[in-house]
Amino acid sequence: MIYLDYNATSPLDPRVLDAMLPYFREKFGNAASRHHELGCDAAKSVEAARERVARLIGADPREIVWTSGATESDNLAIKGVAAASAAKGRHLVTVATEHRAVLDACEHLESKGFRVSYLKVNSDGTLDLDRLAKAVAEETVLVSIMHANNETGVLHPLREIGALCKERKVLFHTDATQSFGKEPIDVQAMGIDLLSASAHKICGPKGIGVLYVRRRAPRVRCEPLLHGGGHEKGYRSGTLNVPAIVGMGAAAEIAGREMAAEQPRFRSLRDRLERELASRLEGVEVNGHPERRLANTSNLSFRGMDGEELMKAVPEVAVSSSSACTSALLQPSYVLGALGCDAERVRGSVRFSLGRFTTGEEIDRAVDGIAAAVGARRKAARR
Ligand SMILES: *Cc1c(COP(=O)(O)O)cnc(C)c1O
Repeated sequence: MIYLDYNATSPLDPRVLDAMLPYFREKFGNAASRHHELGCDAAKSVEAARERVARLIGADPREIVWTSGATESDNLAIKGVAAASAAKGRHLVTVATEHRAVLDACEHLESKGFRVSYLKVNSDGTLDLDRLAKAVAEETVLVSIMHANNETGVLHPLREIGALCKERKVLFHTDATQSFGKEPIDVQAMGIDLLSASAHKICGPKGIGVLYVRRRAPRVRCEPLLHGGGHEKGYRSGTLNVPAIVGMGAAAEIAGREMAAEQPRFRSLRDRLERELASRLEGVEVNGHPERRLANTSNLSFRGMDGEELMKAVPEVAVSSSSACTSALLQPSYVLGALGCDAERVRGSVRFSLGRFTTGEEIDRAVDGIAAAVGARRKAARR
């Protein structure tokens, strides 16, 4: 199996697993029970992990709230800020290509009487900041714009968006799940007030994530989704998942240390994949901006080919197709539709996303398999 679906989830790094194992065995303490050594140890490990996550984004550890993953973080940020600021205004701004966790949370708010503006993107997936500036109104309480898109890898300019939000005195949330640990992020320099991230996209465990919530200049007000015990400064009650938290801390530390070396390696493998496919096949198009995107992501459309069919023809290559279900709901992707791609191009799209354990030899084998399958399909169609 050649795994090229890192944007969906990633394999656990063995170093992360090693860091977690003692917390499943002898170090089983509850981080909120600090009357004995086991609880104290757990609490200390949780705080060490919090520091590691904070360091990766230039935050203060006290601004990091543990959640069950980025879906929860997005919900907490959007619904929590909306609930806390409803007296000030009931309008939010987001983008049509956001992850479902953001879009569905916004749609829920619409059913509660909030107004949401969904900004359109250009045909390369990028956003016009003029459009954002026009959409922000007097009653806007939150702008939620992702850093990197999960399907195309397209990056939005957080620094410029943050500056615009600051100028208009609107809180800025970013879903940075795909860029966390892959791209440099600095919540200060970028003017970010809330940020969502998840461990399982960076070779950490599933079911653990964080929401960064700014404490100063301004102090963000955000209502909790869960009540009961007041853990995490009241933002998120519930006994902490200590092994997963330790795992996310380890994954963040490794990603921070290896990012500078991993980025060019991903880029060179990704470019090799695109170059080789384009040299062997006609009608291969890149979806999304060719430069302004994550180094590990390649969303390609193969003319006259169905993405799902292609995945079936090359079962040894694990990728995603926009035509296949990307969530628990059986719906085709809306992201390429928002870029204005025609139905054929959406149907023919395949997302390749590589990561830490991808090798050049795997890329070459994937190219061989895909080129052969597309070639055979086109030959059959001509007959
Ligand atoms: C994967 C992903 C999510 C959801 O994260 P979970 O931790 O799986 O809930 C949210 N946003 C983006 C951009 C993602 O890629």
